[in-house]
Amino acid sequence: MILLYFLLSGITGFIGFKVNALTKGGAIAATIVGTAIAYGFEWRGLLLLGIFFLSSTIWSKYKARKKEAIGDIVEKGSARDQYQVIANGGAAAFAGIMMAFFPSNWWLVFFLSVLAASNSDTWASELGVLSKRPPFHIKKRQFVPPGTSGAVSLFGLIASFLGALLIGSVGALVFDVSLAILLFVTLGGFIGCLFDTLIGASLQEEFRCQICGIKTERHEHCQTATLRIKGFSGLNNDVVNFISSIIGGLSGGIWFL
Ligand SMILES: [Zn+2]
Repeated sequence: MILLYFLLSGITGFIGFKVNALTKGGAIAATIVGTAIAYGFEWRGLLLLGIFFLSSTIWSKYKARKKEAIGDIVEKGSARDQYQVIANGGAAAFAGIMMAFFPSNWWLVFFLSVLAASNSDTWASELGVLSKRPPFHIKKRQFVPPGTSGAVSLFGLIASFLGALLIGSVGALVFDVSLAILLFVTLGGFIGCLFDTLIGASLQEEFRCQICGIKTERHEHCQTATLRIKGFSGLNNDVVNFISSIIGGLSGGIWFL
């Protein structure tokens, strides 16, 4: 059975690579993440991962033209690389392996909440940037250009909640768990996404182009190395995503206390 899951994950990763949703490294990472999740949660886990992957891909391609302007701010393009895949799916893959060896509902709720947080965050960033009003930076207390880490819009918050709710609802359905768990998973995912914004606003590294002066997450702009103006070195968007997904997972797991 695990071989079948491996093949299924591999084929999905390959398709993702072909439609330019994943880089080659991203496709390999997705295959490993998918297999680890299926190892513990079988087809139900894969289904949820598939929903996350498919909806993220659709939203990232949606109005891609309109998003080109923010390409200068964010570090990476729309094809996910291995770091992004691990940042979003690594904790879920870990839960899959733990579930296989130490089966417990705790790992299930953790897994669902982690995925809810990743889905929530992806929906928020892919849809939030389309908000007609500029987002509000929670630390600078001012409106900033769309795509800036650490900023929120009402539209983005709604997208974030719906992203978490989708994983919570499908998860509750296929795993046949209580309504309370659905609630905790959804809230856990939403909290994870909020932490993402919070860390993005405060601790995440940010750079400034020495040529054109734009603030960016990129290490290079105008073919010149950018200068770090805030945050901890190495605490980039991927690391922040990874930490936030774990915070989301643990927040959902509070249900058991
Ligand atoms: Zn520049």
